[in-house]
Amino acid sequence: MSVIHAPQTADVLARQDPELAEILLGELDRQSTSLQLVAAENFTSPAVLAALGSPLANKYAEGYPGARHHGGCEIVDVAERLAVDRAKSLFGAEHANVQSHSGSSAVLAAYAALLRPGDTVLALGLPYGGHLTHGSPANFSGRWFDFVGYGVDAETGLIDHDQVRTLALNHRPKAIVCGSIAYPRHIDYAFFREVADEVGAYLIADAAHPIGLVAGGAAPSPVPYADVVCATTHKVLRGPRGGMILCGSELAERVDRAVFPFTQGGAQMHTIAAKAVAFGEAATPAFAVYAHQVVANARVLAAGLAGQGLVVTTGGTDTHLVTADPAPLGVDGRTARGRLAAAGIVLDCCALPHADSRGLRLGTAAVTTQGMGEREMVRIAALIAGVVRGEVESVRAREEVRDLVGGFPPYPA
Ligand SMILES: *Cc1c(COP(=O)(O)O)cnc(C)c1O
Repeated sequence: MSVIHAPQTADVLARQDPELAEILLGELDRQSTSLQLVAAENFTSPAVLAALGSPLANKYAEGYPGARHHGGCEIVDVAERLAVDRAKSLFGAEHANVQSHSGSSAVLAAYAALLRPGDTVLALGLPYGGHLTHGSPANFSGRWFDFVGYGVDAETGLIDHDQVRTLALNHRPKAIVCGSIAYPRHIDYAFFREVADEVGAYLIADAAHPIGLVAGGAAPSPVPYADVVCATTHKVLRGPRGGMILCGSELAERVDRAVFPFTQGGAQMHTIAAKAVAFGEAATPAFAVYAHQVVANARVLAAGLAGQGLVVTTGGTDTHLVTADPAPLGVDGRTARGRLAAAGIVLDCCALPHADSRGLRLGTAAVTTQGMGEREMVRIAALIAGVVRGEVESVRAREEVRDLVGGFPPYPA
């Protein structure tokens, strides 16, 4: 168990609950011996894991620092203030709320702060990469608000700015949402700000994916443009699983009240402490190098996949994200994902704009944390294509994956 970086915790678990200890070890083994290309995932640092496994998990802390509903919060108040100050300084924001339990909770709170049920909201349609919280009928957003979806251009795959403006003028939304689970290019926040101003709408940037690149200076920041920025802390940003909201001072109180008490209860102080650790790490020069390497790796991976015959959406990427249609190799996304999974290559399917079948979505945040570079991306692209085509049988591919990741242990002993 000592490979997990909280040795006492792990040893205690091994002694007291071997059944669960075995599950943890099994998952650590899976993460270390297969190739992690799920675009939303990363490997947190030992320091982040230590904060998550700390006794701060015991503390009840409803409310905000200095104004809690529970006694004994004086120490955790310092932790939350530290997380807030680090987030504000990292992103140049006037206000930060670090209590959101997840990215979805952050979006729920942003809507609660700015909207009333039944309001019209303009967001990227789900077939084009919108998140469930951007108007899915299976989600509160689609049930409680009147969502209008914009799309991407059929030729270029880029967000159709003319359509965004036309829909905004026709529907007069109360809020416009920009942000996606699969869009591989930078979002033009200045353009969205301009349209929002034209129609008197709030601009909500759901930057769950690129916020880590923003922290490292490898993607433009939505903070100067959006009224409210929602984000996760566990994707490229490499922190604990959780959410965050950034906004200007004038919306601070509304946002805070929308998180607690409107949509959440007690804050998770161990997670907030881990967010503080991650913000501290993300402010270092090493993280800026990391963020730029994530993008460089994704570009090489996209070019490699295109070279192998897959159709890469928008022809490439500006971020950590690549989406591609494997159809030219003779299979759809679902079949491709299955073959890749059997070979130990872990990634997602995604909706492809203007296509009937599903595509593949990959990201380079985790493999870059492991230390992989452009050379490995070339190798990965060739391996993916070989497996998807059915040329490389899964046993041989599994061996090659083990060989590749063996040189880049996520948690070196
Ligand atoms: C990941 C993501 C979310 C949701 O985050 P969870 O922590 O899974 O709730 C919301 N919006 C976008 C754009 C995302 O990429």
